[in-house]
Amino acid sequence: MSLSPSPSIHWFRDDLRLADNPALAAAVAAGPTLCLYILDERPERRPLGGASRWWLSRSLAALSSELERRDGALLLLRGDPETLLPKVAEMIGAALVTWSRRYDGDSVALDARIKSELQNGGRQVSSFNAALLNEPWQVTTKTGDPMKVFTPYWRAARARGEPPAPLPAPVRIATPALPAGLTALAVTREDLALEPHAPDWAGGLREAWTPGEAGAAAALEHFLAGPLAGYGEDRNRPDLASTSRLSPHLRFGEIGPRQVWHATHSAVESGAAAAPESDAEKFLSEIGWREFSYHLLFHNPDLATRNYNPRFDAFPWRHDDAALEAWRRGRTGYPIVDAGLRELWTTGWMHNRVRMIVASFLIKHLLIDWREGEAWFWDTLVDADPANNAASWQWVAGSGADAAPYYRIFNPVTQGLKFDPRGAYVRRWIPEIAALGDAEIHEPWKASTAILRRAEIELGVTYPRPIVDLDAGRQRALAALAATKG
Ligand SMILES: Cc1cc2nc3c(=O)[nH]c(=O)nc-3n(C[C@H](O)[C@H](O)[C@H](O)COP(=O)(O)OP(=O)(O)OC[C@H]3O[C@@H](n4cnc5c(N)ncnc54)[C@H](O)[C@@H]3O)c2cc1C
Repeated sequence: MSLSPSPSIHWFRDDLRLADNPALAAAVAAGPTLCLYILDERPERRPLGGASRWWLSRSLAALSSELERRDGALLLLRGDPETLLPKVAEMIGAALVTWSRRYDGDSVALDARIKSELQNGGRQVSSFNAALLNEPWQVTTKTGDPMKVFTPYWRAARARGEPPAPLPAPVRIATPALPAGLTALAVTREDLALEPHAPDWAGGLREAWTPGEAGAAAALEHFLAGPLAGYGEDRNRPDLASTSRLSPHLRFGEIGPRQVWHATHSAVESGAAAAPESDAEKFLSEIGWREFSYHLLFHNPDLATRNYNPRFDAFPWRHDDAALEAWRRGRTGYPIVDAGLRELWTTGWMHNRVRMIVASFLIKHLLIDWREGEAWFWDTLVDADPANNAASWQWVAGSGADAAPYYRIFNPVTQGLKFDPRGAYVRRWIPEIAALGDAEIHEPWKASTAILRRAEIELGVTYPRPIVDLDAGRQRALAALAATKG
């Protein structure tokens, strides 16, 4: 008589996929597997923003269907994982619990506590890397310290060689019998109330995105077959669909960087992508920035709240609710800034170049604390990421590791003229000034009265006048920096 294997649990978190998920594969190889997602509602956890909650809801739905196609199922719970996970393991008599590692301070501490609790209960716990090419402690300086500058970081990361080939998705995922006590704890996706109802502001998100593993694979395939060719040049152009738009898929682990890496190399080598190696290298170096951000977050757990460079602790930020609100709503009077913030509000995403422009405008021209911008992005981005968001805001502020110098202040007009030369991006997101010609689209306040009248624009009424003078804002920012230095 053969004993049936003891059940396993795979605890899904930011790894909402079946392929290249070593922790899931290990659980499935060991026995029938309970696939679990817990909406973490501990008060000390930073709550997900609204756009991320919407994405999570759709991603869980997609994951659940993928599991069911393989005879599996996704059990949803809500509450404190530290209480719930040991309880579930006890209820089903799990011999093994697996998960994919996370790198933010709260998760690292939580996972360590849960691991020791489960091990004390006699269960095996195995964690794996599903999110990164290299984990934060694997890339160091020669003396073993964390890296602080991107170029040597990425050189050292590359020197570690190719990432392992991605694993296939499990073919079948047998589910253990669930005791009645456990089914009574389960909640539905509707119970989690992750999607907005009154009002339902998610129409633009639904139109723009297909969350889930299949949506991620389709986005990568589309990118490799087209926009990758020319990425090195065009990636800065918000008027062209020239980037991968993989960020929310990567954020929720619907696809992993090992898969992106290998698919990119094989598309270029096989000729399936008509892109030179240099475009692929540029694209993968952006994945490298994501890795570097995780490296920074792991070694600086308060990256979203504290200046990496403490000199900025004395910075004289302004408190200006009206200006902050005008910025959030895309009503600053600077078209490229407003277009970006409206793209964000409607679709939950913003082009990288425009993220830099709007962040620089908030921090430097308005002199508002980068943490206000980080928080707004956290709430509104579908790709709001604990590492990338915090690291990027600090990068623009000049307070971060390997950051842009504070005195580099983007001029939104020259940035607009350079990266949206025909104004197509601005016209798409700010229809009320779309009738302006290419000469005025980035600076409507310079248009003559006759041109404004023809375009049916009344500045200050149909579209705002600039809320700050660019030169005065720039001088004020430089003076603030000089005062901080002194
Ligand atoms: C102020 C600010 C805030 C940001 N907040 C986030 C955030 O919350 N989440 C997020 O994923 N990215 C963030 N970024 C980085 C970047 O803007 C987005 O990753 C990128 O625009 C996503 O589009 P894509 O997937 O088409 O990028 P692609 O150009 O196709 O790049 C591929 C992938 O590389 C990674 N990547 C690209 N650029 C960066 C970068 N500068 N830093 C770190 N990783 C990068 C992303 O995972 C991206 O999906 C922020 C940038 C700025 C300036």
